Amino acid sequence: MLALALAASACLGLAPLSAGAAGGGQVSFASASKVDITPALDTNRVFLAGYGATGRRAQGIHDRLYARIAVFSDGRKTVAIVSLDLIGLFLNDVLDLRRMTRFDKPGRYLFVTASHTHSGPDTLGMWGPVPGVSGVDLGYMKGVKEKVAAAVLTANDRLKPARLRSASSKLDPKGLCKDLRDPAVVDPYLTVLAAETMAGKPVATIVNWSCHPEVLDKTNMLVSGDYAGALCSKLDEERGGTCLFLPGSIGGLATPDTRAPRDFREVSRIGGELAARAMKALSSEACKPMTGFPVDSKAETVRVPVENSRYLLSLRSLASGHTLRDAAGDPLPASKAYTLPARHIVRRLKKDELPWVETEVSFLSLGPACGLGIPGELFPELAIGGFAGEFRGGQPLLDPANPDPPDLSKAPKGPYLKDLLPCKTRFVVNLANDELGYIVPEYDFKVQDSLTLLPRRPGHHYEETNSIGRSATSIVIDAARRLMK
Ligand SMILES: [Zn+2]
Repeated sequence: MLALALAASACLGLAPLSAGAAGGGQVSFASASKVDITPALDTNRVFLAGYGATGRRAQGIHDRLYARIAVFSDGRKTVAIVSLDLIGLFLNDVLDLRRMTRFDKPGRYLFVTASHTHSGPDTLGMWGPVPGVSGVDLGYMKGVKEKVAAAVLTANDRLKPARLRSASSKLDPKGLCKDLRDPAVVDPYLTVLAAETMAGKPVATIVNWSCHPEVLDKTNMLVSGDYAGALCSKLDEERGGTCLFLPGSIGGLATPDTRAPRDFREVSRIGGELAARAMKALSSEACKPMTGFPVDSKAETVRVPVENSRYLLSLRSLASGHTLRDAAGDPLPASKAYTLPARHIVRRLKKDELPWVETEVSFLSLGPACGLGIPGELFPELAIGGFAGEFRGGQPLLDPANPDPPDLSKAPKGPYLKDLLPCKTRFVVNLANDELGYIVPEYDFKVQDSLTLLPRRPGHHYEETNSIGRSATSIVIDAARRLMK
């Protein structure tokens, strides 16, 4: 049995707003849809993404992958949320989806995230047959975008009067999630939003939890949504409607706290426990529905320099989903994705020669709940703090065997991002509308001065090698703070 009972479960619904306060009257609307995006394996060219491994050709399908969509509208603003059972999507794919659905028009916002399953196809170009070769199947990507766009439009056409409930439950992460990197910080809050018909029938159940979907390890060769897939299939089955999993602050590195071999039984156990906790939070007496819930969103485009050698050397995969720009913001010719890595190998690029990419930071407000969309994998301590051990979940704050522990006296002081969210039920979504890798606290961003950043610094500094660079952290966090004002 998991020791989960200490959870402080708070279900936060508010009284119905007046017509003026809701902006669009006393009635708001919601709908959902779901489409199968499991790749066909007949070509033998489906490469599983994740774990830094390459050449993991999928040998079978354990469970189907889905795109899941929830649409909310208060009559004035419509927000569609898409969650994909995939490793991630780059910004340009999200912009394609917005054009395909006409969600690039005023009054509409399309928010796309991915569960980050490590047992789905390569959609970012980093897990092909050999290192440096993309594993992306362009035909599959085109098909996914067409299916997702159609499912968004279907959901948008089905908008019906709805009410909304939200809950945030503090779990004991033991047996569910642990932090592999010092300081030990796991965001323990499971956040749930439930849209339902006016008669109380579930439409969409959105779950936000901060842990990598990597119960399975790199020896797994079967397509799977990992624990996030198991969580959603249980909620779909037991509640009805459509479940969406939104990954929380998973950097750091928040990984499943497995208690048995990393197999599909553990996937079911962890997914099932989280689904049960989500249902329990929603069934709380205090969890009253809100009608006439206001819907809003804000987004800011920011530019980030590509500083890390590893990203510079694999610039082609980043350029497949972004327009490369110079320091002034002007687009660079596509050929630079080939010439800049070559130049970097010969004589290291200077600071003013580095390419930049645009990314998006976003803010969603749905009735009593609100959250941030972060375009990468945020260290949870940047979302909630925890440098004094508040969120260590039973782990030592610093591993006594760490040869190069972080200097916590230099750690950022609060208030942290989640503290600043201006609402009662708060969430932070990672891999939102882009995937720039880990967003590492600057005080502990340490890399070897080597071209490939490998070997790494002593201690745990893996995440720096999968981060676009040190500068990204303050650029993203400053934008998030502006959006919350
Ligand atoms: Zn990751």
